[in-house]
Amino acid sequence: MFSQERAKKIVTPLTYLRCLECSTVNSRPFREGDYVFKEVEEKCPKCGSSKMKIIGIYVKEEAKEKRKSKL
Ligand SMILES: [Zn+2]
Repeated sequence: MFSQERAKKIVTPLTYLRCLECSTVNSRPFREGDYVFKEVEEKCPKCGSSKMKIIGIYVKEEAKEKRKSKL
């Protein structure tokens, strides 16, 4: 019964990309097919280069524990 409720919470991981030209690190929501060290065609917000490399994929956890501890 309760498992359906839990399944509703979808956590989207964040993919961190580093520009190969200027080393700027940028993040965006994870997309299917992303993996660490993959080179992707993403536009660098700083220099405009379109070659970036995935340096990490992290799950942004919801602060449910923090909310509880406030009580
Ligand atoms: Zn750049």
